[in-house]
Amino acid sequence: MRATVLYAPGDVRIEDRPDPAITAPTDAIVRIAATCVCGSDLWAYRGVEAVERPTPMGHEYVGTVEAVGAGVTTIRPGQFVVGSFFASDNTCDICRAGYQSSCVHREYVGAGGAQAELLRVPLADGTLVATPEPPPADLVPSLLAASDVLGTGWFGAVAADVKPGRSVAVVGAGAGGALAVLAARHLGAERIIAMSRHPDRQKLALDYGATDIVTERGDDGVARVKDMTGGLGAHCVIEAVGTQESMLQAIRSTRPGGHVGYVGVAHGVALPGEELFYSHVHLHGGPAPVRRFLPGLIDLITTRIIDPGKVFDLTLPLDRVADGYAAMDERRAIKTLLSPSA
Ligand SMILES: [Zn+2]
Repeated sequence: MRATVLYAPGDVRIEDRPDPAITAPTDAIVRIAATCVCGSDLWAYRGVEAVERPTPMGHEYVGTVEAVGAGVTTIRPGQFVVGSFFASDNTCDICRAGYQSSCVHREYVGAGGAQAELLRVPLADGTLVATPEPPPADLVPSLLAASDVLGTGWFGAVAADVKPGRSVAVVGAGAGGALAVLAARHLGAERIIAMSRHPDRQKLALDYGATDIVTERGDDGVARVKDMTGGLGAHCVIEAVGTQESMLQAIRSTRPGGHVGYVGVAHGVALPGEELFYSHVHLHGGPAPVRRFLPGLIDLITTRIIDPGKVFDLTLPLDRVADGYAAMDERRAIKTLLSPSA
Protein backbone atom coordinates (compact mmCIF):
# COMPACT_ATOMS: atom_id res chain seq x y z
CA MET A 1 0.00 0.00 0.00
CA ARG A 2 0.95 3.64 -0.28
CA ALA A 3 1.53 5.26 3.09
CA THR A 4 2.88 8.48 4.59
CA VAL A 5 6.20 8.37 6.45
CA LEU A 6 8.00 11.20 8.24
CA TYR A 7 11.76 10.91 7.85
CA ALA A 8 12.92 14.14 9.41
CA PRO A 9 11.51 17.58 10.18
CA GLY A 10 9.96 18.88 6.95
CA ASP A 11 10.60 15.59 5.13
CA VAL A 12 7.35 13.69 4.76
CA ARG A 13 6.98 11.18 1.92
CA ILE A 14 4.66 8.67 0.36
CA GLU A 15 6.20 5.24 0.06
CA ASP A 16 5.19 1.63 -0.48
CA ARG A 17 4.79 -0.24 2.78
CA PRO A 18 3.46 -3.73 3.56
CA ASP A 19 -0.31 -3.96 3.85
CA PRO A 20 -1.38 -4.13 7.51
CA ALA A 21 -2.56 -7.55 8.68
CA ILE A 22 -4.87 -8.68 11.44
CA THR A 23 -2.57 -9.43 14.37
CA ALA A 24 -5.17 -9.82 17.16
CA PRO A 25 -8.65 -11.36 16.91
CA THR A 26 -10.17 -8.01 17.90
CA ASP A 27 -8.57 -6.11 14.97
CA ALA A 28 -10.18 -4.71 11.85
CA ILE A 29 -8.55 -3.59 8.62
CA VAL A 30 -10.07 -0.42 7.18
CA ARG A 31 -9.66 0.76 3.58
CA ILE A 32 -9.28 4.51 4.02
CA ALA A 33 -11.81 6.64 2.13
CA ALA A 34 -10.39 9.91 3.45
CA THR A 35 -7.74 10.99 5.92
CA CYS A 36 -6.19 14.32 6.82
CA VAL A 37 -3.34 16.25 8.40
CA CYS A 38 -3.80 17.23 12.04
CA GLY A 39 -2.48 20.37 13.66
CA SER A 40 -0.80 18.00 16.12
CA ASP A 41 1.06 16.29 13.21
CA LEU A 42 2.83 19.61 12.71
CA TRP A 43 4.59 19.34 16.08
CA ALA A 44 6.56 16.39 14.69
CA TYR A 45 6.81 17.83 11.17
CA ARG A 46 8.35 21.01 12.61
CA GLY A 47 10.76 19.04 14.77
CA VAL A 48 9.28 20.41 18.00
CA GLU A 49 8.38 16.88 19.00
CA ALA A 50 11.01 14.18 18.64
CA VAL A 51 9.87 11.21 16.56
CA GLU A 52 11.31 7.78 16.07
CA ARG A 53 12.18 8.01 12.41
CA PRO A 54 11.01 7.04 9.89
CA THR A 55 7.51 7.22 11.40
CA PRO A 56 4.15 6.35 9.80
CA MET A 57 1.90 9.41 10.07
CA GLY A 58 -1.80 10.12 10.49
CA HIS A 59 -4.49 9.27 13.03
CA GLU A 60 -7.74 10.57 11.48
CA TYR A 61 -9.70 8.22 9.25
CA VAL A 62 -12.95 7.07 7.77
CA GLY A 63 -13.36 4.16 5.43
CA THR A 64 -14.80 0.78 4.67
CA VAL A 65 -14.08 -2.28 6.75
CA GLU A 66 -12.18 -4.77 4.64
CA ALA A 67 -11.61 -7.56 7.14
CA VAL A 68 -12.17 -8.32 10.82
CA GLY A 69 -10.58 -10.74 13.26
CA ALA A 70 -12.39 -13.78 14.62
CA GLY A 71 -13.21 -12.00 17.90
CA VAL A 72 -14.98 -9.01 16.34
CA THR A 73 -18.73 -9.28 16.82
CA THR A 74 -20.44 -5.99 15.89
CA ILE A 75 -18.26 -4.49 13.16
CA ARG A 76 -18.56 -6.24 9.77
CA PRO A 77 -16.74 -6.09 6.43
CA GLY A 78 -18.43 -3.64 4.08
CA GLN A 79 -19.51 -1.19 6.78
CA PHE A 80 -18.47 2.45 6.48
CA VAL A 81 -16.86 3.39 9.79
CA VAL A 82 -15.51 6.34 11.73
CA GLY A 83 -12.97 5.71 14.46
CA SER A 84 -10.98 7.54 17.05
CA PHE A 85 -7.21 8.00 17.30
CA PHE A 86 -7.12 5.87 20.45
CA ALA A 87 -8.50 2.36 20.27
CA SER A 88 -10.63 1.50 23.29
CA ASP A 89 -12.50 -1.56 24.52
CA ASN A 90 -15.44 0.72 25.43
CA THR A 91 -16.27 -1.62 28.31
CA CYS A 92 -13.83 -0.87 31.15
CA ASP A 93 -14.70 1.45 34.02
CA ILE A 94 -12.81 4.34 32.43
CA CYS A 95 -14.56 3.90 29.07
CA ARG A 96 -17.97 3.61 30.71
CA ALA A 97 -17.29 6.89 32.48
CA GLY A 98 -16.74 8.46 29.04
CA TYR A 99 -12.93 8.61 28.95
CA GLN A 100 -12.22 6.11 26.17
CA SER A 101 -8.97 7.86 25.27
CA SER A 102 -7.68 6.68 28.68
CA CYS A 103 -9.11 3.16 28.30
CA VAL A 104 -7.12 0.65 30.35
CA HIS A 105 -6.54 -1.23 27.07
CA ARG A 106 -6.02 1.80 24.87
CA GLU A 107 -3.75 1.61 21.85
CA TYR A 108 -2.73 4.49 19.62
CA VAL A 109 -4.38 3.81 16.27
CA GLY A 110 -2.05 6.27 14.60
CA ALA A 111 0.89 3.96 15.32
CA GLY A 112 0.04 2.27 12.03
CA GLY A 113 -0.31 5.56 10.17
CA ALA A 114 -3.77 6.55 8.90
CA GLN A 115 -2.43 8.70 6.05
CA ALA A 116 -2.35 5.54 3.96
CA GLU A 117 -4.53 3.29 1.86
CA LEU A 118 -5.15 0.76 4.66
CA LEU A 119 -5.13 0.89 8.46
CA ARG A 120 -5.21 -1.74 11.19
CA VAL A 121 -7.61 -0.69 13.95
CA PRO A 122 -7.27 -2.59 17.25
CA LEU A 123 -10.29 -3.29 19.48
CA ALA A 124 -12.59 -2.75 16.51
CA ASP A 125 -15.88 -3.29 18.36
CA GLY A 126 -15.03 -0.66 20.96
CA THR A 127 -13.31 1.80 18.65
CA LEU A 128 -15.22 1.98 15.37
CA VAL A 129 -18.73 3.32 14.84
CA ALA A 130 -20.53 2.39 11.62
CA THR A 131 -22.69 4.90 9.78
CA PRO A 132 -26.32 3.84 9.19
CA GLU A 133 -25.51 3.35 5.50
CA PRO A 134 -22.59 4.17 3.21
CA PRO A 135 -22.57 7.99 3.13
CA PRO A 136 -22.89 10.15 0.03
CA ALA A 137 -19.54 11.62 -1.02
CA ASP A 138 -20.38 15.11 0.20
CA LEU A 139 -20.72 13.88 3.80
CA VAL A 140 -17.33 12.13 3.89
CA PRO A 141 -15.35 15.26 4.93
CA SER A 142 -17.70 15.93 7.84
CA LEU A 143 -17.53 12.30 8.99
CA LEU A 144 -13.75 12.48 8.73
CA ALA A 145 -13.79 15.59 10.91
CA ALA A 146 -15.70 13.59 13.55
CA SER A 147 -12.73 11.20 13.78
CA ASP A 148 -10.67 13.77 15.67
CA VAL A 149 -10.96 17.50 15.13
CA LEU A 150 -14.71 17.76 15.66
CA GLY A 151 -14.63 15.34 18.58
CA THR A 152 -11.78 17.37 20.05
CA GLY A 153 -13.57 20.69 19.66
CA TRP A 154 -16.72 19.13 21.09
CA PHE A 155 -14.86 17.75 24.10
CA GLY A 156 -13.30 21.18 24.62
CA ALA A 157 -16.76 22.74 24.77
CA VAL A 158 -18.12 20.03 27.08
CA ALA A 159 -15.04 20.22 29.34
CA ALA A 160 -15.50 24.01 29.48
CA ASP A 161 -19.06 23.33 30.67
CA VAL A 162 -20.74 25.22 27.84
CA LYS A 163 -24.45 25.56 28.53
CA PRO A 164 -27.29 27.71 27.21
CA GLY A 165 -26.80 31.38 27.93
CA ARG A 166 -23.13 31.19 28.83
CA SER A 167 -20.31 33.28 27.43
CA VAL A 168 -17.57 31.33 25.70
CA ALA A 169 -14.10 32.32 24.54
CA VAL A 170 -12.06 30.11 22.21
CA VAL A 171 -8.29 30.56 22.22
CA GLY A 172 -6.91 29.46 18.85
CA ALA A 173 -9.06 29.39 15.75
CA GLY A 174 -7.48 26.59 13.79
CA ALA A 175 -9.71 23.73 12.74
CA GLY A 176 -10.11 22.51 16.34
CA GLY A 177 -10.96 25.98 17.61
CA ALA A 178 -13.43 26.56 14.78
CA LEU A 179 -15.22 23.32 15.61
CA ALA A 180 -15.21 24.23 19.31
CA VAL A 181 -17.15 27.30 18.19
CA LEU A 182 -19.57 25.04 16.31
CA ALA A 183 -19.97 22.86 19.41
CA ALA A 184 -20.50 25.88 21.68
CA ARG A 185 -23.17 27.18 19.32
CA HIS A 186 -24.90 23.80 19.26
CA LEU A 187 -24.75 23.58 23.07
CA GLY A 188 -26.54 26.91 23.35
CA ALA A 189 -23.84 29.43 24.20
CA GLU A 190 -25.03 33.00 23.95
CA ARG A 191 -21.83 34.84 23.21
CA ILE A 192 -18.89 33.13 21.50
CA ILE A 193 -15.64 35.07 21.29
CA ALA A 194 -13.08 33.61 18.88
CA MET A 195 -9.49 34.71 19.45
CA SER A 196 -7.50 34.72 16.21
CA ARG A 197 -5.37 37.07 14.14
CA HIS A 198 -5.85 35.28 10.81
CA PRO A 199 -8.64 36.50 8.48
CA ASP A 200 -9.37 33.06 6.98
CA ARG A 201 -9.68 31.53 10.46
CA GLN A 202 -11.82 34.41 11.70
CA LYS A 203 -14.19 33.86 8.80
CA LEU A 204 -14.50 30.14 9.56
CA ALA A 205 -15.21 30.89 13.23
CA LEU A 206 -17.89 33.41 12.24
CA ASP A 207 -19.42 30.88 9.82
CA TYR A 208 -19.69 28.42 12.70
CA GLY A 209 -21.40 30.88 15.01
CA ALA A 210 -18.80 33.09 16.69
CA THR A 211 -20.36 36.40 17.71
CA ASP A 212 -17.12 38.34 18.30
CA ILE A 213 -13.52 38.22 17.14
CA VAL A 214 -10.59 39.24 19.34
CA THR A 215 -7.29 39.71 17.54
CA GLU A 216 -5.18 40.70 20.55
CA ARG A 217 -3.14 38.06 22.34
CA GLY A 218 -1.72 37.65 25.83
CA ASP A 219 -2.69 40.26 28.42
CA ASP A 220 -4.33 42.46 25.77
CA GLY A 221 -6.50 39.56 24.63
CA VAL A 222 -7.47 38.81 28.22
CA ALA A 223 -8.40 42.46 28.74
CA ARG A 224 -10.62 42.42 25.62
CA VAL A 225 -12.48 39.31 26.79
CA LYS A 226 -13.03 40.88 30.20
CA ASP A 227 -14.31 44.07 28.55
CA MET A 228 -16.89 42.00 26.67
CA THR A 229 -18.03 40.07 29.75
CA GLY A 230 -18.77 42.78 32.27
CA GLY A 231 -15.20 42.80 33.56
CA LEU A 232 -15.52 39.23 34.84
CA GLY A 233 -14.11 37.00 32.11
CA ALA A 234 -15.97 34.31 30.17
CA HIS A 235 -17.91 31.50 31.84
CA CYS A 236 -16.29 28.96 29.53
CA VAL A 237 -12.94 29.08 27.74
CA ILE A 238 -11.71 26.51 25.26
CA GLU A 239 -7.94 26.30 24.77
CA ALA A 240 -7.11 24.82 21.37
CA VAL A 241 -3.41 25.56 20.87
CA GLY A 242 -1.27 23.96 23.58
CA THR A 243 1.38 26.59 24.31
CA GLN A 244 2.28 28.32 27.55
CA GLU A 245 0.94 31.62 26.20
CA SER A 246 -2.38 30.18 25.02
CA MET A 247 -2.95 28.22 28.22
CA LEU A 248 -2.35 31.26 30.43
CA GLN A 249 -4.49 33.37 28.10
CA ALA A 250 -7.29 30.83 28.55
CA ILE A 251 -7.02 30.65 32.34
CA ARG A 252 -6.83 34.42 32.72
CA SER A 253 -9.83 34.94 30.38
CA THR A 254 -12.03 32.75 32.61
CA ARG A 255 -14.11 34.22 35.43
CA PRO A 256 -13.80 32.84 38.97
CA GLY A 257 -15.88 29.68 39.10
CA GLY A 258 -15.66 29.29 35.33
CA HIS A 259 -14.25 26.41 33.33
CA VAL A 260 -11.33 25.96 30.93
CA GLY A 261 -11.55 23.04 28.50
CA TYR A 262 -8.04 22.46 27.16
CA VAL A 263 -7.66 20.36 24.03
CA GLY A 264 -4.53 21.75 22.36
CA VAL A 265 -1.78 19.16 22.84
CA ALA A 266 0.37 20.78 25.55
CA HIS A 267 4.01 21.46 24.72
CA GLY A 268 6.22 23.04 27.36
CA VAL A 269 3.29 24.28 29.44
CA ALA A 270 4.08 24.91 33.12
CA LEU A 271 1.29 26.42 35.21
CA PRO A 272 1.91 28.78 38.15
CA GLY A 273 0.41 27.13 41.23
CA GLU A 274 -0.24 30.25 43.23
CA GLU A 275 -2.06 31.96 40.37
CA LEU A 276 -4.14 28.83 39.81
CA PHE A 277 -4.96 28.65 43.51
CA TYR A 278 -6.41 32.12 43.56
CA SER A 279 -8.10 31.90 40.14
CA HIS A 280 -11.00 29.66 41.22
CA VAL A 281 -10.97 28.29 37.67
CA HIS A 282 -11.86 24.67 36.81
CA LEU A 283 -9.38 23.00 34.46
CA HIS A 284 -10.40 19.96 32.46
CA GLY A 285 -9.08 18.61 29.20
CA GLY A 286 -6.66 16.23 27.57
CA PRO A 287 -6.82 13.93 24.55
CA ALA A 288 -10.47 13.98 23.59
CA PRO A 289 -12.49 10.85 24.28
CA VAL A 290 -13.83 11.09 20.73
CA ARG A 291 -15.49 7.68 21.00
CA ARG A 292 -17.88 9.11 23.63
CA PHE A 293 -19.21 11.62 21.13
CA LEU A 294 -19.06 9.64 17.85
CA PRO A 295 -22.58 8.19 17.77
CA GLY A 296 -24.17 11.57 18.44
CA LEU A 297 -21.87 13.42 16.06
CA ILE A 298 -22.46 10.90 13.25
CA ASP A 299 -26.19 11.42 13.76
CA LEU A 300 -25.87 15.23 13.61
CA ILE A 301 -23.79 14.93 10.42
CA THR A 302 -25.89 12.36 8.54
CA THR A 303 -29.04 14.36 9.31
CA ARG A 304 -27.17 17.46 8.04
CA ILE A 305 -27.66 19.47 11.22
CA ILE A 306 -23.94 20.29 11.43
CA ASP A 307 -21.37 20.66 8.65
CA PRO A 308 -17.92 20.34 10.24
CA GLY A 309 -16.35 19.34 6.91
CA LYS A 310 -15.98 23.01 5.99
CA VAL A 311 -12.74 23.05 8.01
CA PHE A 312 -11.06 21.30 5.07
CA ASP A 313 -9.98 24.10 2.77
CA LEU A 314 -7.51 22.01 0.79
CA THR A 315 -8.12 18.56 -0.71
CA LEU A 316 -5.27 16.63 -2.28
CA PRO A 317 -4.62 13.11 -3.51
CA LEU A 318 -2.68 11.10 -0.92
CA ASP A 319 0.37 11.14 -3.20
CA ARG A 320 0.68 14.89 -2.59
CA VAL A 321 0.75 14.60 1.20
CA ALA A 322 3.99 16.60 1.37
CA ASP A 323 2.20 19.57 -0.21
CA GLY A 324 -0.59 19.15 2.32
CA TYR A 325 1.79 19.38 5.28
CA ALA A 326 3.65 22.34 3.78
CA ALA A 327 0.41 24.24 3.14
CA MET A 328 -0.66 23.84 6.78
CA ASP A 329 2.83 24.56 8.12
CA GLU A 330 2.93 27.80 6.11
CA ARG A 331 -0.69 28.62 7.06
CA ARG A 332 -1.81 28.54 3.44
CA ALA A 333 -4.40 25.96 4.49
CA ILE A 334 -6.37 25.47 7.70
CA LYS A 335 -6.69 21.72 7.25
CA THR A 336 -5.79 19.33 4.44
CA LEU A 337 -7.95 16.40 3.42
CA LEU A 338 -6.14 13.54 1.68
CA SER A 339 -7.86 11.17 -0.70
CA PRO A 340 -6.13 7.80 -1.20
CA SER A 341 -8.26 6.90 -4.22
CA ALA A 342 -7.62 10.14 -6.15
ZN1 LIG B 1 -11.77 0.83 28.23
